[in-house]
Amino acid sequence: MTDIHVDEDLCKGCGLCVLFCPQKVFEPSEELNKKGVFPPKVVRGDQCVECRLCELICPDFAISVTKDEELEEDTHGHGKSQERVRAQSAV
Ligand code: SF4
Ligand code: SF4
Repeated sequence: MTDIHVDEDLCKGCGLCVLFCPQKVFEPSEELNKKGVFPPKVVRGDQCVECRLCELICPDFAISVTKDEELEEDTHGHGKSQERVRAQSAV
């Protein structure tokens, strides 16, 4: 399954990720973070379509999305860097 990681303490609670995720993966948490705001929590991670809009839209870079195939590559000793090399060579 896609790994959607929210660094709660980086979040400033703007709510953009909750509002704009096309799959409604996020909802505001009930617990305040260190900044005194409600960070998002992942409630429908299985619905994620890996569009990465949340990563792009978050002004504080609090969200990272790792796709299934990247997770698989990690387990085989390769990672995102390997994928980037392939993506660049394809351009
Ligand atoms: S990658 Fe897209 S579908 Fe998945 S949580 Fe982020 S905005 Fe939602
Ligand atoms: S977009 Fe980023 S800063 Fe805004 S609520 Fe979501 S995680 Fe927090």
